[in-house]
Amino acid sequence: MTDAQSAPSTPSPERPALPDVLETLLASRYEPGHTAFLVRIADNIQPDADGCRIDALPEAFGWHPAWRLTDPREALEALTTAGVLPESWAQDERRLFAVDVRCLLCRGRKTMTRMMMPPESFGVADDTREWPVAIKTEEVPCGQCAGTGRVSGPFVCPGTIPDLVAWASLGRDAITRAEALARQVIVDAGARDEMGRLVERVWWRVEPVEYPLPEETYETPAQTDLRAMGVKLWRLSADAITLCVPPIGAP
Ligand SMILES: [Zn+2]
Repeated sequence: MTDAQSAPSTPSPERPALPDVLETLLASRYEPGHTAFLVRIADNIQPDADGCRIDALPEAFGWHPAWRLTDPREALEALTTAGVLPESWAQDERRLFAVDVRCLLCRGRKTMTRMMMPPESFGVADDTREWPVAIKTEEVPCGQCAGTGRVSGPFVCPGTIPDLVAWASLGRDAITRAEALARQVIVDAGARDEMGRLVERVWWRVEPVEYPLPEETYETPAQTDLRAMGVKLWRLSADAITLCVPPIGAP
């Protein structure tokens, strides 16, 4: 046994629902079930904006079927209709997705232009004085996005279809378990919202994650179990607890 095998490590999450998710979302001219079959035997799966590359030798190499739908919300609905995700989840407002989008206020510029006030003495005693030739302005960090140019949702659906695939492929059991563990983390931490109630919302985000996940110094059993699932505890705030999983095919 090598060191790598004996060392405790947290793997990236398993994705038992990936065959069913891709079977539902990818267009194929083959008979039903063929995509799911290829996904089960594939050595490389790489979703992108247009579709998904599937290498499953000797059956397929470089096969790149397109997505059936282009809107992630419609794709999420399709997964529910196909029974890949439970129908009851559609009404669950406690589950949302943190999606980085361009800040609407500064339009991604990260700064806002602020007018400098004229000197205090200006115009007080004598309103015949002229305005300065040019009103001075200064650039200050945007207050909406804290100068990052991006804000993170939350939204009712992941922002892209590859992100939706990365999340939904965890499968309903793992998602349910991760959310239950997340709520236990909230209880353990006593995290409350501005109304004094325990935080209820679980937000998911899809972002590259470095494995193995680091073990925290004071880790609760729920945190340890989440880490063992390969699900990263991203943030706990008064709004929500945020969990993170990596995109599929990420290094
Ligand atoms: Zn901004």
